[in-house]
Amino acid sequence: MDPWSKAWEKAVAGAVAVVDCSEEIPCNPCEQACRMGAIVVGDDICAPPRFEPDLCNGCGRCVSLCPGMAVFLLDRSAGAGKVRVTVPYEMREELQGGGEAWAMDGEGKPLGKGKIVKTAKMGRGEKTVLVTIEVPEEWALKVRGVRNRVMTLGEPYELDEYEEEEKCYLCRCEEVTDSYVRELAKVGFHALRALRRFSRVGLGYCQGRFCQAMLREEFCAVTSREPEEAGTFKVRPPIRPVKISRLGGEDV
Ligand code: SF4
Ligand code: SF4
Repeated sequence: MDPWSKAWEKAVAGAVAVVDCSEEIPCNPCEQACRMGAIVVGDDICAPPRFEPDLCNGCGRCVSLCPGMAVFLLDRSAGAGKVRVTVPYEMREELQGGGEAWAMDGEGKPLGKGKIVKTAKMGRGEKTVLVTIEVPEEWALKVRGVRNRVMTLGEPYELDEYEEEEKCYLCRCEEVTDSYVRELAKVGFHALRALRRFSRVGLGYCQGRFCQAMLREEFCAVTSREPEEAGTFKVRPPIRPVKISRLGGEDV
């Protein structure tokens, strides 16, 4: 049985991690996080993680530490057509247990609202919040994030309350904050590609895999454009990190 099917079966009894990471990028915090040996990247740090749900105890450390937001917890024990999904949340606005939040898919599109079952942090000083949201079972494998609201076109966008010491990174590879991107869009970078080139969002290791959807959302919110109008930007080769030795002709 493949790991996803195993996780789906195991989730009937309670929370289990699901790893949705197929990118060949130099990354392994998930392996470091897991004390049960359920996630293994191995010596080739660019290899996608291998995942064994049978070893997982549902602790959530990997969800908290994965920088790509590529791991979530799935819990099907509630039954009645509902599942609980736990995802990382790093926005400034607080979410409270008992309230509601928007469940977002992997492309940053809203699936609909769900009930927040609980919020938690894994350790002292940890800023990532784990949010457990209850949603219809058909969204079980689609939810990748939560938001307290979804921007609508024409909605006033507050820029002045942002304090730089509370940095919120939109692009982690190039360390570009969301407020910087909004300022650029506001002052006249009215093409997504120009905004990308100037800000360097999407030009780092991940090549926009993790940040392009967020950049488009911020851009559309500030410039009152539809996502289709904003377009997408091309990922330039090499589309995956490669070893220098391979470029030099060595077959390793
Ligand atoms: S939830 Fe805990 S036990 Fe399961 S894979 Fe993640 S770190 Fe390992
Ligand atoms: S992005 Fe997340 S799941 Fe993928 S290798 Fe990095 S830490 Fe692991």
